[in-house]
Amino acid sequence: MNNKQFQSFLHKIGSLNYSQLKQLRHSTDTQISSNIVGQAISDREEAISVCPHCDSRKLNRWGMTKQGIQRFRCKSCSKTFNALSGTPLYRMRHPEKWAKYTELMWNGVSLRAAAKELDINLRTSFRWRHVFLKKPNSPECERLIGIIEADETFIPESFKGRKVTSRKPRKRGGGNTDKVPVLMALDRAGDISHKVLERDTQSELKAVLKPIIAPGSVLCTDGNLSYKGIAKDLGVDHKRLIAMDKKRVIDGIYHIQTLNNYMMRWKSWLVRFHGVGTGYLENYLSWFRFMEQHVPHQEKDWIKAAL
Ligand SMILES: [Zn+2]
Repeated sequence: MNNKQFQSFLHKIGSLNYSQLKQLRHSTDTQISSNIVGQAISDREEAISVCPHCDSRKLNRWGMTKQGIQRFRCKSCSKTFNALSGTPLYRMRHPEKWAKYTELMWNGVSLRAAAKELDINLRTSFRWRHVFLKKPNSPECERLIGIIEADETFIPESFKGRKVTSRKPRKRGGGNTDKVPVLMALDRAGDISHKVLERDTQSELKAVLKPIIAPGSVLCTDGNLSYKGIAKDLGVDHKRLIAMDKKRVIDGIYHIQTLNNYMMRWKSWLVRFHGVGTGYLENYLSWFRFMEQHVPHQEKDWIKAAL
């Protein structure tokens, strides 16, 4: 459609009634979703070069599946597969609804409400959430370098979504037993690392930071004394931003505000889920990080990552 036709088409929208507008929205959502998923799948098709059964590189294109996904046939083992074989999305139905589903998830819509909105059953809604929530967990940050900000934050412990097992309550220094410590660290290049800790101790903090902090970096933290020892052990410079001194920036560049802002965004996003089971916190950290790092193609990239 050329621009002139499109403008006239847009103009006509003004004359639709409410029910027609709703139909239009539904149809637009479905189209966008199909495109997003279609693009993610076709990117994957492009990248396929070996047979998942025998690793042979001799492949023929072998028609399409019912859903329009490219099928391949291996010349060596004669088995067929498609772009989704071996992924959690293989045999998952209604690809035209996946992108919208992930959007509803991101907005904290309940399983039941998402099922209703997309006209899928509750079991499907549950399974999809599981698939999509699990996946972006994979690419871990391996290295932080340069000016690094690190800090902990605390989230109420929750057994939501999990059968209660008898386990020892977590303990913080002050004897607070119902908060889960989360360590986050980032560098100015935008790499972010996070870890849900058992306890907020120096040895746990160090175990997380040691493998990822590059030599020659500068570690910026709050006044927590644990970091002093860690920086010394790792042989990196340490800048402490001590709240009591009301000093927020040292030498114009050393601060932990990038991280504190990031934490605040994560926590305020988390509110919409009305409490996240502690066992799933890592997923919610990874998911958030993924979406922040994949603006502006979040849904497409996320579905791609799930493939
Ligand atoms: Zn093969």
